[in-house]
Amino acid sequence: MSSGPIGIFGGTFNPIHHGHLRSALELKQSLALDQVRLVPAAEPPLRRAPELSAEQRAELVEQAVASEPGLVCDRRELSRQGPSYTVDTLVELRTELGTDRPLCLIVGTDILERLDQWHRWEELLDFAHLVVIARPGWRMPETGRIASWVEEHGGVSADLQGSPAGLVVLQQQRQLPISATEIRDMIAAGQSPRYLLPDAVWDTIQRLGAYGAGLERQEQHGIC
Ligand code: ATP
Repeated sequence: MSSGPIGIFGGTFNPIHHGHLRSALELKQSLALDQVRLVPAAEPPLRRAPELSAEQRAELVEQAVASEPGLVCDRRELSRQGPSYTVDTLVELRTELGTDRPLCLIVGTDILERLDQWHRWEELLDFAHLVVIARPGWRMPETGRIASWVEEHGGVSADLQGSPAGLVVLQQQRQLPISATEIRDMIAAGQSPRYLLPDAVWDTIQRLGAYGAGLERQEQHGIC
């Protein structure tokens, strides 16, 4: 079996969109990752409960990655009780994949800026590297405890293969300006989000009537 690095990209994925998918694929290629595991959070600790169940959000992730073998949906957080803490996911993965394999936890800059609100956040680097996806020109915070932590553990992408965990790497790359919030708002306003997310995902959202999809049409036809 191959023993290259594995990317772990967690999120609410409410819903998954092309911003997530393109970043995951570009990182897989630029960091020579064996695969990127997209891990839907069953119960995101720092958010309101999402409109779609964890099962439904995971199903959308499955549909989104079905034709790309380098990206896989990892449903492990759905089978745990209570808040979905990333550190618990990393502990499980480390146990399954062994002590030597590099694991790269992938997060956006929005997550890095409030990482110190995460459960046992400083332990994340005991189990994985942290790869921060940043738009070109974005800079790490320069003051505060996250800044000192990043300075202490900062590395470059070429070092990721050389150790299983422990580095924070800023990866400058294209970031599509798409957010799940915008997609949900668009759907609720009766607009189509097509081309911001995979067609299969949008088709399923419409079938479920999620985020208010189809409500306008139903109202026009007196269904509601
Ligand atoms: P919301 O708008 O509901 O906050 P989101 O689009 O930011 O959702 P999340 O599921 O919260 O999506 O994010 C999962 C991960 O994906 C986070 O690490 C986040 O920083 C990252 N991310 C979100 N949008 C993008 C994007 N357009 N490109 C790259 N990464 C993204």
